[in-house]
Amino acid sequence: MKDARRGALMTQGIERLEIPRGYNTRLDPMPRLILFDLDNTLCDHATSRSLRVRHAFAPFFANETDLGQAVQEAVTRSMEGTTHFPGILEQYGADANAAEAARERYVSDRYRGLELYSDALHTIEKVKQVASIGMITNGPTDIQQPKIDLLQIEHLFPFILISESVGIWKPDPAIFHMALEKAGIAAEDAIYVGDSPVADVPGAKAAGMRSVWINCAGINWPGDEPPDIEIRDLNELLLSLGLAP
Ligand SMILES: [Mg+2]
Repeated sequence: MKDARRGALMTQGIERLEIPRGYNTRLDPMPRLILFDLDNTLCDHATSRSLRVRHAFAPFFANETDLGQAVQEAVTRSMEGTTHFPGILEQYGADANAAEAARERYVSDRYRGLELYSDALHTIEKVKQVASIGMITNGPTDIQQPKIDLLQIEHLFPFILISESVGIWKPDPAIFHMALEKAGIAAEDAIYVGDSPVADVPGAKAAGMRSVWINCAGINWPGDEPPDIEIRDLNELLLSLGLAP
């Protein structure tokens, strides 16, 4: 599917920006600190969101095809929130009460299907053998902390910065500086691994560290200044660090 998508982009004549890829690029010098984002970097937030929207919409659809289409439309239109639910449900004949009920089903079922990517634990284990690690995640504390608890990963990280808890949100470089301070490591010896072209890559760069863009969907780089390297999955991070054969 990824290759098909790439092919489609190429036939549309969209030029791919040449960003070094993790499978053939060695991160040099080797970082002494590796900082991770959480959603869509270590855990599969995108799949979870799809499952949650499907669960929320299901009672209001008589046929599977319409349900599938409506879910697809909802997750394509926005990766967050429910404000677009009424507009989408209306197209399929549902009224405002249904939209409100769908919203309630969605928010009361926040962690449906949320899992780590299959290579996340192995990656954390491997990188810890050669570098310090930490996590910086954007979001409300009462959403991010239960997610971290559910995924059972807190004990793996010497520190985790949740933006609401520390009062600074990515891409503000101050939250990256805070992480560097906690680790006692200089920016030039650190990398940040994250999926967001808005919060992660520009924030890490502004803080003076190298940025690794995890691009699971295989899209073109949509931001301004590109990341130092691009990876498609966490195994490519290990390759870029010389930690995978
Ligand atoms: Mg993310």
